[in-house]
Amino acid sequence: MTDDGGGQPPPETVFSALGNETRLEILFTLHGRASGWSRSDDAVPYSELQSAVGEDDSGKFNYHLSRLTDHFVEKRPGGYAIQYAGKNFVRAALASYGVEESSFGPTEVDAACFRCGGDVVVEYNGERLMTRCADCPGAFDLDYTPDGTLSAVPVQPGGIADTDQNRLLERIHARFCHRARTYVDGACPRCGGEMDRDLVGCADHDGSDGPCPNCSTSMAAYFDCQCSVCGQSGLIPPVVGRSDRDPVAAALREAGVDGAGWPLFAEGMAWSDSYDPDANRVVYDPDAVDYRIGVDASATLAKL
Ligand SMILES: [Zn+2]
Ligand SMILES: [Zn+2]
Ligand SMILES: [Zn+2]
Repeated sequence: MTDDGGGQPPPETVFSALGNETRLEILFTLHGRASGWSRSDDAVPYSELQSAVGEDDSGKFNYHLSRLTDHFVEKRPGGYAIQYAGKNFVRAALASYGVEESSFGPTEVDAACFRCGGDVVVEYNGERLMTRCADCPGAFDLDYTPDGTLSAVPVQPGGIADTDQNRLLERIHARFCHRARTYVDGACPRCGGEMDRDLVGCADHDGSDGPCPNCSTSMAAYFDCQCSVCGQSGLIPPVVGRSDRDPVAAALREAGVDGAGWPLFAEGMAWSDSYDPDANRVVYDPDAVDYRIGVDASATLAKL
């Protein structure tokens, strides 16, 4: 991105337009008037917008509105409407700020540890929903994961507000599973850009007593995904990323799992796995079926 030659200006220049109360008021007002997926009723007439924002000085109002047009707000025949970038900004703000007190400490939920069968607690910590086992070392030993961590899913505070913890466990892991599939399909769920995907295997894996000392996870291999456009990233268990396709989907169904959520995540994480460095693929050996499943670096599946 460059300011030269008619291209888009750099993000710093564009976002400096947001550093003003009147301009934020304009954006939030227009966002409040946007009607979901439809475009038809979104445009707010100039005078109506001015009075909703409460800036009586037309010169000043005009100036602030002009700072937002082209990037966050567009002029239409019927008035002004918020653009995609403006919606993204307001939505991120709504999901992070001004929400009910949302952090909470360890709370037991109706779920069993996929490593040892022990009790599972959920907590919200460092903008992540963490699940942890009280009885074993868990599946991850990363710099942000406490002892016993089974999953650590980034969620904005608004995403966990005002919720029953069992429902929260299910909802956040359903979202994770769907995102994981999108990531491994090579598409960024945030911006639609190309998701780069590397299969990171642990050739000397030992996940028998908790997270492997060599790779810090209980997984013999994972996909390290990062969007080439917006930088959205994630560490994805290959079985979850391919959970909508046979033979992975068939093996999950045999194990009694249908659909996305904690049961899918937990079942996939429980499958015994090994990494084959020569083929650069991970091989799963699910208990419920009499075949094994390979996932290679291009996310192609093989029934073995
Ligand atoms: Zn456990
Ligand atoms: Zn390892
Ligand atoms: Zn992206």
